[in-house]
Amino acid sequence: MTDGRALVAEAEDRLRPLERARNAAWWDASVDASDENESRRRETDLAYSNALADSELFDAVVSANDGADAFVGRQLGLLRNLLLPHQVPASLRERIIELESALEGRFARHRGVVRGAEVDDNRIKQVLRESDDPGERREAWEASKTVGAAVADDVRELARLRNEAARALGHRDWFALSLAVDETDETKLLETLALADRATAEPFARWKEALDAKLAERFGCGVADLRPWHYADPFFQEPPADGSVDLDPLFAGKDVVALARRTFEAIGLEVDDILAASDLYPRPGKNQHAFCADIDRGDDVRVLANVVDNHSWAETMLHELGHGVYDLGLDRKLPWLFRTTHLVTTEAIALLFGALARDGEWLERVLGLGGNEARRLESSLAAARAAEHLVFTRWVLVMTGFERVLYADPDGDLDSAWWGLVARHQLVTPPNGRRAPDWAAKIHVAVAPVYYHTYLYGSIVALQLREALRSSVGGLVDRHEAAELLATNVFAHGQSVRWDELVARASGRPLSVDSLAREVATA
Ligand SMILES: [Zn+2]
Repeated sequence: MTDGRALVAEAEDRLRPLERARNAAWWDASVDASDENESRRRETDLAYSNALADSELFDAVVSANDGADAFVGRQLGLLRNLLLPHQVPASLRERIIELESALEGRFARHRGVVRGAEVDDNRIKQVLRESDDPGERREAWEASKTVGAAVADDVRELARLRNEAARALGHRDWFALSLAVDETDETKLLETLALADRATAEPFARWKEALDAKLAERFGCGVADLRPWHYADPFFQEPPADGSVDLDPLFAGKDVVALARRTFEAIGLEVDDILAASDLYPRPGKNQHAFCADIDRGDDVRVLANVVDNHSWAETMLHELGHGVYDLGLDRKLPWLFRTTHLVTTEAIALLFGALARDGEWLERVLGLGGNEARRLESSLAAARAAEHLVFTRWVLVMTGFERVLYADPDGDLDSAWWGLVARHQLVTPPNGRRAPDWAAKIHVAVAPVYYHTYLYGSIVALQLREALRSSVGGLVDRHEAAELLATNVFAHGQSVRWDELVARASGRPLSVDSLAREVATA
């Protein structure tokens, strides 16, 4: 039996430089996608995952003695969860990685055809947002699904291989393994999803009835004739833009980064070092999205963004800096294995700060909007937020429900299962007589498996934290006490405490759908 304390130290010495090199290379490739940076990213990625696949290290971790020290025991547990998914026979691991990257490439290269011309996803989304021609909309929607037919067999094969890996590691299937290594209790997840279903079913049906009436009028058909292509995006995962509030004019000409800085500094959270290390504005050859990277589990935290002066980038900067202040707020005295965050809690903190860009109080105090205008906006903003939570929650019910079915039986009738879930949760009528693997057109099923529920958990926890801050210190904007509560109850602990325990401590109660139910009641 190995001495747990020594083993944890040894693992840290080994993994720490590899992780840091991987993070730094990933950053470099994101800000400048040169061939050299790309190949360094691949090399450092491989070196890190090879270290995680080390079976001797894994066996030592499993048989290590924690010396009855809970702190050591928890580090061994995290280390085991980190290594376990990589303890798959090398040939199987390689087949999975190859198939994943081949699928990623096919998604990137595939183009649908609308009116005889090849179109990318942006063009399809534009048609579904703007076109009043049902024929063109139908073509665009069908074009968005052609990738599904092209990749479905490979996605089923990938699910079989993932299940084979999971079973070799002693789990029922890939769904169960993914949850287990992420410290997510499956029974609790299913219970929470059922409660989220119950809390949103009625307000969603009401909201959608009003939407359908508008769509039927717009397209000159009956409500019963509405089909998936009448909604504003290929999966109906977002509410349509009309009916929400356009905040862009309020941000035109504003310094979005300065607004974000002001938000954090006013509550005593320092972001200067993050901003100095960041890459914030659009430039050729650079990743077009946004993320926050904790490079070394220490002081080196950076944000990549492509800021322009609109609402969405204001929200994104607040979101990414939310991740950043969490990373910097980890107690430096914690051992390395604890100096990281769980996806649910870091996403919750980021969503909590990001939502400020649509919060009446923030618009008044930070953006400088007149008090009357802010109050006037507040009720339409609340309705728009509620609609977003409704549409998103129903969509997660489809995705998570489908992935359970997929991994339970990759050879089953997935096409029918998919449309059954879509009809039940999103109240969307399938196209007449459609038989096609439309589920496979969602890239996450292939390349980000069993992940969607963390988005829902993150948004629920964000609502729960917002309520807790309102009742204890009046809110988040300009309130030092709010940041102190987050710093003490959430940030400092890192992963020394399980995420669900942190949520219970920080919000005063375990994760529940109660705040979500209150939030959607205003739809
Ligand atoms: Zn995020």
